[in-house]
Amino acid sequence: MKATTACIGGTAAYDLLREGAFLAKRLGPQNTPFGHSQPIHLCNSRYGEFFFLSRHGETGFNVTPSFVNYRANIYALKELGVRAIVSWSETRAICHNYKIGEYVIVDDVIDETHLRPNTFFEHRGLGVVRQWPVFCPSLQRALTTTLTEERCEYSDHGTYVCIEGPRRETAAEARKFASYGAHLLGTTLVPEVFLAKELQLCYASICYVASYAETGSDFRPFENGRTLEYPAQVERARAAVERLPRLLERLMDVLQRTPGVCHCESSMQHHIASGQISWDWRTWFDDIPDLPRRRADNWADGGYEYDYEYFLDRMRRQYDYQRDEPDLFDSQA
Ligand SMILES: [Zn+2]
Repeated sequence: MKATTACIGGTAAYDLLREGAFLAKRLGPQNTPFGHSQPIHLCNSRYGEFFFLSRHGETGFNVTPSFVNYRANIYALKELGVRAIVSWSETRAICHNYKIGEYVIVDDVIDETHLRPNTFFEHRGLGVVRQWPVFCPSLQRALTTTLTEERCEYSDHGTYVCIEGPRRETAAEARKFASYGAHLLGTTLVPEVFLAKELQLCYASICYVASYAETGSDFRPFENGRTLEYPAQVERARAAVERLPRLLERLMDVLQRTPGVCHCESSMQHHIASGQISWDWRTWFDDIPDLPRRRADNWADGGYEYDYEYFLDRMRRQYDYQRDEPDLFDSQA
């Protein structure tokens, strides 16, 4: 059966694949109207095939979250026939109720990024895309079933705040996010989750708690009458990552047993019904201006370079505009 599920993971997850924890065939980077995706692998499991994409490339952390070409990655998976994406994400807990190594199926997001292209529909007005529920409820249920069957410690609730990075949050920022109601902090779920919705894909995330956010407190986790020292915390987080192959295999089993019931495949139905876009998603981006398309085709590899150039160009224009029209930005002028 053709693979319809994909996992997008970070560097630690890719290291597992590189070390042979998955039986995988490298399909390589895919060309898209938005540049090249990161290399994609087709993995085999007892319960069927799935795709794996390493967000940050294949040589360590060589693409930082701000410069990941999220649009190319999501587009490439859609084009391969993917219908459901599971994001595997490292987080830091703002709330000390979460334990190091614990899994969290997050159910809401606060977007604190400011540099990332966050829509496929940059060159046309399309109106709004609803964000409730943010994550696919059906895929979330499959993930909680997976974690239950694998006897993992997890929480099925949490609000994730996505910061721009690469720097860490300040203590004041962590307190601000806590006052917003955020529980976990990370750098990767945005704009992935929003882009997946624009291509009518199911998307949910398994987060694992790798450490605590910089809240300015001297908190040290205390379990079973003892302080959990730093080496033990690192070991706990590593163990959480190493369970990934088993969890993905179990998820494939769960998905086969419990077909999903959700409305993700019709998240753009309103825009299709109004005639703004056609029923064939491949035609949605036909009117992208020549410049980005030509640029994307000219890059030998690494779509992020295309996005980086594009980002710089956009920043330059914004700067020029502010310099030429200071009255619009400075009320004292
Ligand atoms: Zn769904």
